[in-house]
Amino acid sequence: MPDFIQQTLSLREFGFDPDGTGPSQRYRQFFTMEQLAFYLRENFPFSAYVSVALYEKPSRREGWIKSELAFDVDAKDLPVKPCGCGEGQVCERCLEEARRVVMLLSDVLSSDLGLRELRFSYSGRGFHLRVLDESVSKLEQNERAQVVSYVTGGVVPTDLTFVLGYSKVFREFCARTLERLPEERLREVFPKLAKRIQEKKAEVVEALRRGRREEIRGLVGKEERLLEFLAKLNSTWVDGKVTVDVKRILRLPSTLHSGVSMKCVYIRDIENFSLDQAVPRFALEGRG
Ligand SMILES: [Zn+2]
Repeated sequence: MPDFIQQTLSLREFGFDPDGTGPSQRYRQFFTMEQLAFYLRENFPFSAYVSVALYEKPSRREGWIKSELAFDVDAKDLPVKPCGCGEGQVCERCLEEARRVVMLLSDVLSSDLGLRELRFSYSGRGFHLRVLDESVSKLEQNERAQVVSYVTGGVVPTDLTFVLGYSKVFREFCARTLERLPEERLREVFPKLAKRIQEKKAEVVEALRRGRREEIRGLVGKEERLLEFLAKLNSTWVDGKVTVDVKRILRLPSTLHSGVSMKCVYIRDIENFSLDQAVPRFALEGRG
């Protein structure tokens, strides 16, 4: 279990899923690692979770002190998938996509917002990114929602051409979203324009990257609506509900995701993470 959880163990609320239906047992508090280990051995829950918040009284969820700023990028819920996975499905390609999105978020969090204490874990179906910096730990819900909007490019900026800062984040996320968007999805929103956008996609993406609004308008007309549509999709690369919820519990790194038989693991090096690190030993032994 990562140090940042061990060092604050007794201030966190733990939650457990006793029967595979979800974390119905909450309000658990442990003062030592031994107590937690004993509890796990005695009760062998399906899943274990830990709060992003620290409390004076975690067993009553009272006396909120602060919360990590958490981002959840779930491969099964990506707004645009690079593979053939249907809703609720996950494969190596969409997991890789989720990993890249998490890396993009961490770039923006560190370069634009100056945050330094970023911690990653593999959740079993995607990735969690927790920001531990004191400067964001007391943010309230609406402020956390604004951070989500910023790091995902969820709002059309007033000036698309600004070289750095938010405009750049927005342009990059839009280009990424549009590049991967299939024509059917475009047709749902732009029945008449979809074919044209699809044909000119490479040029539109390039114009987006450069912030050339007039060029986009020249290529597909109504660029305002296209930008609004992309902004809305951008914000769904992460599960915003997780970020704004300061009392959220997240899967505990070092425990098993029983639904997929993969371990939720703490990741020291997100750039070089490979899924092999999350395969539990019993599954390897099973391969004989
Ligand atoms: Zn997939």
